[in-house]
Amino acid sequence: MSTENQFIPQENNGEVIYKGHTFYILYPNSGKTIEDLLAYSAILIHAVHSTYADFTIQRLRSYKDQRMYLKPIFFLQPSADSGKYINRLIDGSVFNLNQLESILPRIEDILTRTNQLKNYTASTYEASLITKFLTQSYTRGRKYIEPIPYIFSGINYAYPGISCNFDHTEENKVFAILDLAEKEGLIQGEFYDKTHYCNKCNHGALNYRSVCPKCASSNSETQDIIHHFPCGNVGPMSDFQNEVNDHLNCPKCNKQLRHIGVDYDKPSILHTCMKCDHKFQDFEVKAKCLNCEFDNELEELIEKEIKRYSITNKGENATIFGYLPSNKEMEEIPGTVRYSLFSSMVKSEIERIRIIHSHSNLAMIYLHNSGELVSRIGGDRRRIIIKEVVSTVAQFLRPYDIIAYKNPSLMMVTMYDISQENGLLLLEEIVELLRKLLSNNVKDFEVKIEYKIQAISTKIPYKDQVESLIQGFD
Ligand SMILES: [Zn+2]
Ligand SMILES: [Zn+2]
Ligand SMILES: [Zn+2]
Repeated sequence: MSTENQFIPQENNGEVIYKGHTFYILYPNSGKTIEDLLAYSAILIHAVHSTYADFTIQRLRSYKDQRMYLKPIFFLQPSADSGKYINRLIDGSVFNLNQLESILPRIEDILTRTNQLKNYTASTYEASLITKFLTQSYTRGRKYIEPIPYIFSGINYAYPGISCNFDHTEENKVFAILDLAEKEGLIQGEFYDKTHYCNKCNHGALNYRSVCPKCASSNSETQDIIHHFPCGNVGPMSDFQNEVNDHLNCPKCNKQLRHIGVDYDKPSILHTCMKCDHKFQDFEVKAKCLNCEFDNELEELIEKEIKRYSITNKGENATIFGYLPSNKEMEEIPGTVRYSLFSSMVKSEIERIRIIHSHSNLAMIYLHNSGELVSRIGGDRRRIIIKEVVSTVAQFLRPYDIIAYKNPSLMMVTMYDISQENGLLLLEEIVELLRKLLSNNVKDFEVKIEYKIQAISTKIPYKDQVESLIQGFD
């Protein structure tokens, strides 16, 4: 190794400049606000004290501004106490500044991926949380959202990118966010484990213990039951014991017991409750909540399936271009019909062309960056533009053709009584006009449209035809 290349990074009031990147070292006594930290390429959390480090990384990752929650963040001088979940929230760690070189590729990779994301603001609170975990995964090259056992989690498992956004008492809402994202087709869940929560407060910290079936006390003593073969006597071990030596004598026939299996046996056990003196053979199992102290019967516990999720193609698309929750608004646009109605009208069209031997088509127009579009234009103007889009499309179609929105990105139209070739020419004209319309109305908006046309077949079930039309775009 040549000595001239051994440039040792120097810290200056928490700041380090190294190979074109600016780092900030966050100490417990730092006076900087999170806003102050946005300007740095990467953050190093001084992590000798794991309590401080764990708290700080969760705070930065849950911050509302994407420039912070996606930022490359590392631990400097990590302690061994931060567990698996916390280690998933950081991008790596270094023991001293001489090791900065080793994390540069990681930083550059994250920054490159972050730059691929289109600028947009999520339209709802739920959408902003979904965007957060999707973008955190994407910029780290992760295809999965995995539950990690975490003892400080109120629900026993933590999901990186989601859990830190909720207080301990609200952590259960993580499931609502994941369920929504799964329902929207952005992620796909598979079974991972089952866990249980308190029936009273939903908390997952439960102490399972064996208790007296009469008074629910866990204070009990257990002894063997002895069966003496020669006389047939059956009784608890204490009846056979004496205070002088450790010999066992039968209280019924007074003989000394010799060899287990030969002249006596221990067929079962007996529990004695130290609180109510109740004697019993089978415990009851109860789960005491360590949060609210409610003593749950096992069958009262809330059982929850914990899933591991993979990000779908639709999810990845939404990550880059923006996620728009599907909503009722789309179904009420004048001039359009609901998706379900569209689908059943295709069914009757199949019957019609079978009889009159005509040619009809299905077409779809997909706007990749509708999320970006919506965040650029506000509510009222958005409706006006959508209306304009619909009337633009309608003027190319016959009055009895139909238009439907499957979601804000995906428009479907019928093209009745026209060949597929001519339909395609028409579709190209429509798309060209839509491009002009959108780029004229929204400044600096790069319109990303895909489209497709498909002849209606009289031989394939209507549902399959509609599905194959939108496959990969829904
Ligand atoms: Zn008892
Ligand atoms: Zn006996
Ligand atoms: Zn509880």
